[in-house]
Amino acid sequence: AERLKAGLAKTRDALGKNLAGLFGGGQIDEALYEELETVLITADMGMDATTHLLKAVRDRVSLRGLKDATQLKSALKESLVELIAPLEAPLELGGARPFILMVAGVNGAGKTTSIGKLAKYFQSQGKSVLLAAGDTFRAAAREQLVVWGERNGVQVIAQESGDAAAVAFDAVNAAKARGVDVIIVDTAGRLPTQLHLMEEIKKVKRVVQKADADGPHEVLLVLDANNGQNALNQVKAFDDALGLTGLVLTKLDGTAKGGVIAAIAKQRPVPVRFVGVGEGIDDLRPFRAQDYVEALFE
Ligand code: GDP
Repeated sequence: AERLKAGLAKTRDALGKNLAGLFGGGQIDEALYEELETVLITADMGMDATTHLLKAVRDRVSLRGLKDATQLKSALKESLVELIAPLEAPLELGGARPFILMVAGVNGAGKTTSIGKLAKYFQSQGKSVLLAAGDTFRAAAREQLVVWGERNGVQVIAQESGDAAAVAFDAVNAAKARGVDVIIVDTAGRLPTQLHLMEEIKKVKRVVQKADADGPHEVLLVLDANNGQNALNQVKAFDDALGLTGLVLTKLDGTAKGGVIAAIAKQRPVPVRFVGVGEGIDDLRPFRAQDYVEALFE
Protein backbone atom coordinates (compact mmCIF):
# COMPACT_ATOMS: atom_id res chain seq x y z
CA ALA A 1 0.00 0.00 0.00
CA GLU A 2 2.93 2.34 0.72
CA ARG A 3 4.39 1.64 -2.69
CA LEU A 4 1.04 2.25 -4.35
CA LYS A 5 0.75 5.54 -2.51
CA ALA A 6 4.18 6.58 -3.72
CA GLY A 7 3.23 5.36 -7.18
CA LEU A 8 0.13 7.44 -7.43
CA ALA A 9 1.86 10.55 -6.15
CA LYS A 10 1.52 12.44 -9.42
CA THR A 11 -2.16 11.73 -9.87
CA ARG A 12 -2.66 12.62 -6.26
CA ASP A 13 -0.72 15.85 -6.64
CA ALA A 14 -2.79 16.93 -9.60
CA LEU A 15 -6.10 15.68 -8.24
CA GLY A 16 -5.39 16.30 -4.59
CA LYS A 17 -4.20 19.86 -4.99
CA ASN A 18 -7.28 20.72 -6.96
CA LEU A 19 -9.53 18.91 -4.55
CA ALA A 20 -7.88 20.41 -1.50
CA GLY A 21 -9.22 23.78 -2.61
CA LEU A 22 -12.70 22.35 -2.98
CA PHE A 23 -12.77 20.56 0.33
CA GLY A 24 -11.19 23.45 2.16
CA GLY A 25 -14.35 24.87 3.62
CA GLY A 26 -17.50 26.79 2.86
CA GLN A 27 -20.85 25.51 1.78
CA ILE A 28 -21.70 22.75 -0.65
CA ASP A 29 -23.33 24.61 -3.51
CA GLU A 30 -23.67 24.52 -7.30
CA ALA A 31 -20.42 26.41 -7.82
CA LEU A 32 -18.63 23.74 -5.84
CA TYR A 33 -20.13 20.94 -7.93
CA GLU A 34 -19.03 22.75 -11.06
CA GLU A 35 -15.47 22.98 -9.77
CA LEU A 36 -15.56 19.32 -8.83
CA GLU A 37 -16.68 18.47 -12.37
CA THR A 38 -13.71 20.33 -13.82
CA VAL A 39 -11.28 18.60 -11.47
CA LEU A 40 -12.57 15.14 -12.36
CA ILE A 41 -12.39 15.80 -16.09
CA THR A 42 -8.88 17.18 -15.72
CA ALA A 43 -7.91 13.94 -13.97
CA ASP A 44 -8.91 12.08 -17.16
CA MET A 45 -12.01 10.42 -15.81
CA GLY A 46 -13.96 11.31 -18.93
CA MET A 47 -17.43 12.77 -19.28
CA ASP A 48 -19.45 9.61 -18.53
CA ALA A 49 -17.64 8.72 -15.32
CA THR A 50 -17.61 12.36 -14.20
CA THR A 51 -21.36 12.68 -14.67
CA HIS A 52 -21.88 9.39 -12.87
CA LEU A 53 -19.65 10.43 -9.97
CA LEU A 54 -21.27 13.84 -9.60
CA LYS A 55 -24.68 12.23 -9.31
CA ALA A 56 -23.42 9.68 -6.79
CA VAL A 57 -21.86 12.46 -4.71
CA ARG A 58 -25.03 14.57 -4.88
CA ASP A 59 -27.10 11.58 -3.76
CA ARG A 60 -24.85 11.01 -0.76
CA VAL A 61 -24.91 14.68 0.13
CA SER A 62 -28.70 14.91 0.08
CA LEU A 63 -29.24 11.54 1.76
CA ARG A 64 -27.02 12.56 4.65
CA GLY A 65 -27.98 16.21 4.68
CA LEU A 66 -24.35 17.28 4.27
CA LYS A 67 -23.77 21.04 4.18
CA ASP A 68 -20.06 21.58 4.67
CA ALA A 69 -17.58 21.27 1.80
CA THR A 70 -15.15 19.39 4.05
CA GLN A 71 -17.68 16.53 4.08
CA LEU A 72 -17.56 16.23 0.33
CA LYS A 73 -14.28 14.34 0.35
CA SER A 74 -15.56 11.16 1.92
CA ALA A 75 -18.66 11.29 -0.27
CA LEU A 76 -16.42 11.45 -3.35
CA LYS A 77 -14.09 8.72 -2.13
CA GLU A 78 -16.98 6.39 -1.44
CA SER A 79 -18.54 7.14 -4.80
CA LEU A 80 -15.27 6.44 -6.59
CA VAL A 81 -14.67 3.17 -4.74
CA GLU A 82 -18.21 2.11 -5.63
CA LEU A 83 -17.61 2.93 -9.30
CA ILE A 84 -14.31 1.08 -9.70
CA ALA A 85 -14.95 -1.80 -7.30
CA PRO A 86 -16.36 -4.02 -10.09
CA LEU A 87 -12.91 -3.90 -11.72
CA GLU A 88 -11.43 -5.64 -8.70
CA ALA A 89 -11.28 -9.30 -9.66
CA PRO A 90 -7.91 -10.83 -8.84
CA LEU A 91 -6.44 -13.24 -11.36
CA GLU A 92 -6.97 -16.83 -10.28
CA LEU A 93 -5.33 -19.78 -11.93
CA GLY A 94 -8.04 -22.25 -10.98
CA GLY A 95 -7.43 -25.81 -12.03
CA ALA A 96 -6.09 -25.23 -15.53
CA ARG A 97 -2.68 -26.71 -16.23
CA PRO A 98 -1.09 -25.20 -18.09
CA PHE A 99 -2.84 -21.91 -17.40
CA ILE A 100 -2.46 -20.05 -20.68
CA LEU A 101 -2.11 -16.31 -20.44
CA MET A 102 -1.86 -14.21 -23.58
CA VAL A 103 -0.52 -10.66 -23.41
CA ALA A 104 -1.25 -7.81 -25.82
CA GLY A 105 -0.47 -4.11 -25.94
CA VAL A 106 0.89 -1.19 -27.92
CA ASN A 107 4.66 -0.65 -28.12
CA GLY A 108 6.11 0.94 -25.03
CA ALA A 109 3.10 0.18 -22.81
CA GLY A 110 5.29 -1.92 -20.52
CA LYS A 111 4.45 -5.34 -21.91
CA THR A 112 7.92 -6.88 -21.64
CA THR A 113 8.45 -5.44 -18.18
CA SER A 114 5.04 -6.64 -17.01
CA ILE A 115 5.65 -10.15 -18.36
CA GLY A 116 8.86 -10.30 -16.31
CA LYS A 117 6.98 -9.15 -13.23
CA LEU A 118 4.21 -11.67 -13.85
CA ALA A 119 6.69 -14.54 -14.28
CA LYS A 120 8.25 -13.60 -10.96
CA TYR A 121 4.81 -13.30 -9.36
CA PHE A 122 3.80 -16.80 -10.45
CA GLN A 123 7.17 -18.26 -9.47
CA SER A 124 6.81 -16.78 -6.02
CA GLN A 125 3.61 -18.84 -5.75
CA GLY A 126 5.61 -21.97 -6.54
CA LYS A 127 4.47 -22.19 -10.17
CA SER A 128 6.69 -23.16 -13.08
CA VAL A 129 6.53 -20.65 -15.92
CA LEU A 130 7.12 -20.95 -19.65
CA LEU A 131 7.27 -17.95 -21.93
CA ALA A 132 6.39 -17.98 -25.63
CA ALA A 133 8.43 -15.30 -27.39
CA GLY A 134 5.70 -14.28 -29.77
CA ASP A 135 7.25 -10.98 -30.75
CA THR A 136 8.61 -12.41 -33.96
CA PHE A 137 9.29 -8.99 -35.45
CA ARG A 138 12.24 -8.06 -33.28
CA ALA A 139 15.12 -10.57 -33.18
CA ALA A 140 16.88 -8.56 -30.48
CA ALA A 141 13.83 -8.68 -28.23
CA ARG A 142 13.64 -12.42 -28.69
CA GLU A 143 17.28 -12.96 -27.78
CA GLN A 144 16.93 -10.72 -24.76
CA LEU A 145 14.04 -12.85 -23.56
CA VAL A 146 16.03 -16.06 -23.89
CA VAL A 147 18.89 -14.62 -21.82
CA TRP A 148 16.48 -13.20 -19.28
CA GLY A 149 14.72 -16.56 -19.02
CA GLU A 150 17.96 -18.44 -18.40
CA ARG A 151 18.85 -16.05 -15.64
CA ASN A 152 15.46 -16.26 -13.96
CA GLY A 153 14.54 -19.89 -14.31
CA VAL A 154 11.84 -19.24 -16.87
CA GLN A 155 11.70 -21.53 -19.88
CA VAL A 156 11.50 -19.60 -23.13
CA ILE A 157 10.25 -20.93 -26.44
CA ALA A 158 11.55 -18.83 -29.30
CA GLN A 159 11.95 -19.48 -33.01
CA GLU A 160 14.32 -18.04 -35.55
CA SER A 161 11.62 -17.98 -38.16
CA GLY A 162 7.92 -18.61 -38.34
CA ASP A 163 5.02 -16.50 -37.29
CA ALA A 164 3.71 -15.61 -33.86
CA ALA A 165 0.86 -18.10 -34.08
CA ALA A 166 3.28 -20.96 -34.79
CA VAL A 167 5.42 -19.98 -31.80
CA ALA A 168 2.34 -19.91 -29.57
CA PHE A 169 1.15 -23.28 -30.85
CA ASP A 170 4.54 -24.93 -30.23
CA ALA A 171 4.85 -23.31 -26.83
CA VAL A 172 1.46 -24.52 -25.61
CA ASN A 173 2.33 -28.05 -26.69
CA ALA A 174 5.74 -27.81 -25.03
CA ALA A 175 4.11 -26.55 -21.83
CA LYS A 176 1.77 -29.53 -21.85
CA ALA A 177 4.55 -32.02 -22.51
CA ARG A 178 6.69 -30.54 -19.75
CA GLY A 179 3.89 -30.22 -17.20
CA VAL A 180 4.38 -26.47 -16.86
CA ASP A 181 1.92 -24.57 -14.62
CA VAL A 182 1.69 -21.23 -16.39
CA ILE A 183 2.48 -20.26 -19.96
CA ILE A 184 2.72 -16.61 -20.91
CA VAL A 185 2.29 -15.91 -24.61
CA ASP A 186 3.95 -12.63 -25.53
CA THR A 187 2.88 -10.82 -28.68
CA ALA A 188 4.46 -7.97 -30.61
CA GLY A 189 3.38 -4.45 -29.75
CA ARG A 190 0.74 -3.08 -32.09
CA LEU A 191 -1.70 -0.24 -32.47
CA PRO A 192 -5.42 -0.94 -32.84
CA THR A 193 -5.29 1.03 -36.11
CA GLN A 194 -2.83 -1.48 -37.63
CA LEU A 195 -5.54 -3.75 -38.91
CA HIS A 196 -3.31 -6.46 -40.37
CA LEU A 197 -1.57 -6.75 -37.00
CA MET A 198 -4.91 -6.95 -35.23
CA GLU A 199 -5.79 -9.83 -37.57
CA GLU A 200 -2.47 -11.45 -36.72
CA ILE A 201 -3.12 -11.35 -32.97
CA LYS A 202 -6.62 -12.76 -33.47
CA LYS A 203 -4.94 -15.63 -35.28
CA VAL A 204 -2.58 -16.17 -32.33
CA LYS A 205 -5.62 -16.56 -30.10
CA ARG A 206 -7.34 -18.95 -32.51
CA VAL A 207 -4.24 -21.10 -32.75
CA VAL A 208 -3.88 -21.20 -28.96
CA GLN A 209 -7.47 -22.45 -28.87
CA LYS A 210 -6.49 -25.15 -31.34
CA ALA A 211 -3.63 -26.28 -29.14
CA ASP A 212 -5.82 -26.22 -26.02
CA ALA A 213 -9.59 -26.14 -26.31
CA ASP A 214 -9.92 -24.28 -22.98
CA GLY A 215 -7.28 -21.69 -23.72
CA PRO A 216 -6.32 -18.98 -23.54
CA HIS A 217 -7.54 -18.74 -19.96
CA GLU A 218 -6.57 -15.11 -19.70
CA VAL A 219 -6.19 -12.42 -22.35
CA LEU A 220 -4.44 -9.45 -20.80
CA LEU A 221 -4.00 -5.99 -22.24
CA VAL A 222 -1.06 -4.02 -20.89
CA LEU A 223 -2.04 -0.37 -20.73
CA ASP A 224 0.07 2.70 -20.03
CA ALA A 225 -1.90 4.89 -17.63
CA ASN A 226 -0.19 7.94 -19.17
CA ASN A 227 -2.30 7.49 -22.26
CA GLY A 228 -5.23 8.96 -20.41
CA GLN A 229 -8.41 8.84 -22.44
CA ASN A 230 -6.59 7.10 -25.29
CA ALA A 231 -6.07 4.16 -22.95
CA LEU A 232 -9.83 3.72 -22.95
CA ASN A 233 -9.82 3.53 -26.75
CA GLN A 234 -7.17 0.84 -26.61
CA VAL A 235 -9.26 -1.18 -24.17
CA LYS A 236 -12.27 -0.98 -26.48
CA ALA A 237 -10.33 -1.91 -29.62
CA PHE A 238 -8.41 -4.85 -28.12
CA ASP A 239 -11.52 -6.06 -26.33
CA ASP A 240 -13.50 -6.01 -29.56
CA ALA A 241 -10.75 -7.93 -31.34
CA LEU A 242 -9.77 -10.45 -28.67
CA GLY A 243 -12.29 -10.50 -25.86
CA LEU A 244 -10.10 -9.25 -23.03
CA THR A 245 -10.35 -10.87 -19.62
CA GLY A 246 -8.06 -8.47 -17.78
CA LEU A 247 -5.89 -5.36 -17.78
CA VAL A 248 -2.50 -4.46 -16.39
CA LEU A 249 -2.40 -0.72 -15.80
CA THR A 250 1.26 0.36 -15.86
CA LYS A 251 3.33 3.41 -14.94
CA LEU A 252 1.01 4.67 -12.26
CA ASP A 253 4.13 5.97 -10.56
CA GLY A 254 4.79 8.40 -13.36
CA THR A 255 1.42 9.74 -14.35
CA ALA A 256 -1.10 12.34 -13.38
CA LYS A 257 -3.74 10.35 -15.22
CA GLY A 258 -4.65 7.57 -12.79
CA GLY A 259 -8.23 8.78 -13.11
CA VAL A 260 -8.63 6.95 -16.40
CA ILE A 261 -9.59 3.92 -14.36
CA ALA A 262 -12.95 5.60 -13.67
CA ALA A 263 -13.52 5.98 -17.41
CA ILE A 264 -12.69 2.30 -17.92
CA ALA A 265 -15.08 1.29 -15.14
CA LYS A 266 -17.89 3.30 -16.70
CA GLN A 267 -17.38 2.56 -20.36
CA ARG A 268 -15.61 -0.78 -20.74
CA PRO A 269 -15.35 -2.54 -17.38
CA VAL A 270 -12.61 -5.09 -18.03
CA PRO A 271 -11.13 -6.24 -14.69
CA VAL A 272 -7.85 -4.59 -13.70
CA ARG A 273 -5.82 -7.60 -12.60
CA PHE A 274 -2.64 -5.72 -11.71
CA VAL A 275 -1.20 -2.24 -11.48
CA GLY A 276 2.43 -1.39 -12.28
CA VAL A 277 4.01 1.07 -9.88
CA GLY A 278 7.65 1.11 -11.00
CA GLU A 279 10.28 -0.37 -13.29
CA GLY A 280 11.50 -2.98 -10.79
CA ILE A 281 10.63 -6.68 -11.02
CA ASP A 282 8.56 -6.47 -7.83
CA ASP A 283 6.65 -3.34 -8.79
CA LEU A 284 3.42 -5.10 -9.68
CA ARG A 285 0.39 -5.15 -7.37
CA PRO A 286 -2.96 -6.88 -7.55
CA PHE A 287 -5.55 -4.15 -8.03
CA ARG A 288 -7.61 -3.20 -4.97
CA ALA A 289 -10.24 -0.50 -5.45
CA GLN A 290 -10.12 0.77 -1.89
CA ASP A 291 -6.29 0.97 -1.83
CA TYR A 292 -6.31 2.70 -5.19
CA VAL A 293 -8.71 5.40 -4.07
CA GLU A 294 -6.87 5.86 -0.77
CA ALA A 295 -3.64 6.28 -2.71
CA LEU A 296 -5.27 8.90 -4.91
CA PHE A 297 -6.50 10.97 -2.01
CA GLU A 298 -4.21 10.60 0.97
P1 GDP B 1 6.90 -2.79 -24.24
O1 GDP B 1 7.35 -2.11 -25.49
O2 GDP B 1 5.42 -2.72 -24.08
O3 GDP B 1 7.42 -4.18 -24.08
O4 GDP B 1 7.46 -1.91 -23.03
P2 GDP B 1 8.64 -2.17 -22.00
O5 GDP B 1 8.28 -3.27 -21.07
O6 GDP B 1 9.91 -2.28 -22.75
O7 GDP B 1 8.57 -0.83 -21.17
C1 GDP B 1 8.79 0.43 -21.74
C2 GDP B 1 9.39 1.32 -20.66
O8 GDP B 1 8.46 1.52 -19.61
C3 GDP B 1 10.63 0.73 -20.01
O9 GDP B 1 11.56 1.77 -19.80
C4 GDP B 1 10.11 0.20 -18.68
O10 GDP B 1 11.10 0.18 -17.68
C5 GDP B 1 9.01 1.19 -18.37
N1 GDP B 1 7.97 0.65 -17.47
C6 GDP B 1 7.22 -0.45 -17.63
N2 GDP B 1 6.32 -0.58 -16.62
C7 GDP B 1 6.53 0.47 -15.79
C8 GDP B 1 5.91 0.93 -14.55
O11 GDP B 1 4.97 0.35 -13.98
N3 GDP B 1 6.43 2.08 -14.02
C9 GDP B 1 7.46 2.76 -14.63
N4 GDP B 1 7.88 3.88 -14.05
N5 GDP B 1 8.01 2.38 -15.76
C10 GDP B 1 7.57 1.25 -16.35
